Amino acid sequence: MKRVSIIILAAVLCLSMAACSPKETQISTSQPTASEVVMDNVYHPETDCHYMYRNSYFGFAMTESPDAYYIHIGDTVYVIDKETFTFSPLCGKPNCRHQNETDNHLAYKCDAYFGVCQLPLLEYFDGYLYITTTETVISSFSAQYNIIRMKPDGTQRKIVTTLPQGTEECIMHRGYFYLASKVYNKEMNAKYGVQRIPISGGEPELIYVGQIEGGQISNLTAFGDYIYFQDQIIGPEYDIRTMCYNLKTGEAKNIVKAPELVDPMRMYIVDGKIFGSLYHCRDQKNSEDAYYDRYISELDGSNQKIVEMPFDKKDATWSIFSDGKNLWRYTIPWAPGGDPDQRIMEKLDSNYNVVAAFPELSYGRSVTIFPGNDDYLFIVNQEGETDTSDGELAIYAVDKNPEDGILKKTEILRMDYDNVIRGITLEGDETDIYIADRG
Ligand SMILES: [Zn+2]
Repeated sequence: MKRVSIIILAAVLCLSMAACSPKETQISTSQPTASEVVMDNVYHPETDCHYMYRNSYFGFAMTESPDAYYIHIGDTVYVIDKETFTFSPLCGKPNCRHQNETDNHLAYKCDAYFGVCQLPLLEYFDGYLYITTTETVISSFSAQYNIIRMKPDGTQRKIVTTLPQGTEECIMHRGYFYLASKVYNKEMNAKYGVQRIPISGGEPELIYVGQIEGGQISNLTAFGDYIYFQDQIIGPEYDIRTMCYNLKTGEAKNIVKAPELVDPMRMYIVDGKIFGSLYHCRDQKNSEDAYYDRYISELDGSNQKIVEMPFDKKDATWSIFSDGKNLWRYTIPWAPGGDPDQRIMEKLDSNYNVVAAFPELSYGRSVTIFPGNDDYLFIVNQEGETDTSDGELAIYAVDKNPEDGILKKTEILRMDYDNVIRGITLEGDETDIYIADRG
């Protein structure tokens, strides 16, 4: 079991990648509650998708409240104090060994235990934390997930919804959970698409049906009046469509105009615009001729323009993420070749000039970046042996605004990999009921 878990997390970590992005220039001054959803193209932290912490792959989930950061690592949720960066499990039980407990029968009794983070969702909204927990244990690949709501101290837990079978991604935005999922009918035939469920609970509503035979929905995110995702199939028959679902009209459209044989890559929100990449590759047998174009457009996809960045368009070892305010250029962790001790991470201004950079930076092939808020971004790095349990997991905070333009990472947590993946197996199927009953 343990070995299987390690393999799963290793795969998970390899898939992990930079998240989405925010929008600080238009932060609302009023703080609407979840019951006061405002429909506009301004970022409202209390009700909107925290796309700057969105990590649409597996392994880790992160969010922030006014007082703290919260991160779901392995099977445990930790609290990071915003002032001191003190790290602690979300558990106040006396004599609890938390993530250091190795006895299966005791480990899951820690209040910070939420099950392995397989479908990452950890969000702070309107005074509550929302988190996905797995109902079935990892022995099955057809897991089902519940969403639990609780106070930021872990008390007052309540299951608000059980996600439909086939859910592959989940975000929260303006009163709803939005799900990328396969949808089964009574005969168990599947179609796929985007569903939504009210945050207060209720039946799923299918708002978009996938258009590609054998396709899937990925990179689900939201900003303002729009839900964004890719409807795609990857493989010999490439077809990648960047979709924008308009919450006001209920219409979805493909918003990225790419020439034939050019793949639109994942898009980000920066400074109230869409920023994305177009990969010119498939008409070339020889990948040496491949290159990237970068574009910006309005939030509804209109006015798409290619932009010129002062970097090598053919260099496939770097990519871009956004924290909503700035773009960041960084070395793709799993890019072939390259020295793990010589990674790039640099902050760009609106003219794509470098305004802050690491003089030297190392990270391996398994790294997760949370672009974060105005002040900090976070790097979760797997260090040491990556295919065994001998390694360590380290989390770093990076001050985004150094006066001298020199970025530094500050270690805020280091733990043995044994404590990240403990291979806890629970008896019976009462896991979530138990998790929800605590606190
Ligand atoms: Zn504990």
